[in-house]
Amino acid sequence: LPAAKKEEKGRNIQVVVRCRPFNAVERKSNSHGVIECDQNRKEVTIRTGGVNDKTARKMYTFDMVFGPSAKQIDVYRSVVCPILDEVIMGYNCTIFAYGQTGTGKTFTMEGERSPNEEFTWEEDPLAGIIPRTLHQIFEKLTNNGTEFSVKVSLLEIYNEELFDLLSPSPDVTERLQLFDDPRNKRGVIVKGLEEITVHNKNEVYQILERGAAKRKTASTLMNAYSSRSHSVFSVTIHMKEITLDGEELVKIGKLNLVDLAGSENIGRSGAVDKRAREAGNINQSLLTLGRVITALVERGPHVPYRESKLTRILQDSLGGRTKTSIIATVSPASINLEETLSTLDYANRAK
Ligand code: ADP
Ligand code: MG
Repeated sequence: LPAAKKEEKGRNIQVVVRCRPFNAVERKSNSHGVIECDQNRKEVTIRTGGVNDKTARKMYTFDMVFGPSAKQIDVYRSVVCPILDEVIMGYNCTIFAYGQTGTGKTFTMEGERSPNEEFTWEEDPLAGIIPRTLHQIFEKLTNNGTEFSVKVSLLEIYNEELFDLLSPSPDVTERLQLFDDPRNKRGVIVKGLEEITVHNKNEVYQILERGAAKRKTASTLMNAYSSRSHSVFSVTIHMKEITLDGEELVKIGKLNLVDLAGSENIGRSGAVDKRAREAGNINQSLLTLGRVITALVERGPHVPYRESKLTRILQDSLGGRTKTSIIATVSPASINLEETLSTLDYANRAK
């Protein structure tokens, strides 16, 4: 039975690890490498004993492992492509980036631009999951003759309050309210959230630039906004196909691409770290997400969706027939060893 259970669950929640290359600070600090990523065996080995003890190590196995030399396209092909296929079949799916601040969550989800504007947004080798996904949606659906429309929204959660990054209002501190959807038991309504129809991938780029400008303003107004906020970019696809017997088939799929707050206030046990608690830095949404995933993985009787804004918003896209991928991002350097172990333990519990 455990094997069967594991197989079934393996189809719904997938956990992958991505380790970034050393950065300048880590090189300067004489930090040594503590991680070995074996992409084929899907194993991550951590040296926990410091420079003088080469024997103390901890090994983890995940659904996939990406080492420092893995490219954006590799992550896209292996993690995102299969999920996008589900979305196009009409399911709701979610991809999370989880990890310590500075380990590559935003690099993985959004990506960056190469210097000199050498490439277009979505063809840049540094482009992350969001641009690649939108490009692929238009490519796939335009070519197979489906009638379709694509809508996007971008909301952020900071201190359990909701902000609309695509709102036409110039006031970035305006909060949105969350209500239960009276017509859908598993759904919520974010009142007033802008959902923008996009007609081609270039339009999305301009929309996201607007969101980025608002995010910049928010970071000047709210303390540690960029590391403590969760960013939820959602793409909803309405599709209409005519079947061979001439019937109309309507499908709606949704993909949530979530760049989570930095995990540095969650301790090894999965509870709020003592220091973080003392500093009043408790991230309710991050904590509850861990509990929701644990409940889903262990098939617990009660899934605490209602205990945070993030899990309420994602309730219709977590559990049940949906697919979830968690990309845990880590640093390779010994100075981040404790946080790396904490991230890997969290990721390991979600398997
Ligand atoms: P986070 O969003 O987790 O705080 P970022 O995505 O901003 O972290 O990444 C921090 C820095 O590390 C950025 O300068 C980014 O360019 C770099 N970086 C992260 N991941 C990678 C990677 N896989 N390859 C190359 N550079 C990376
Ligand atoms: Mg970031």
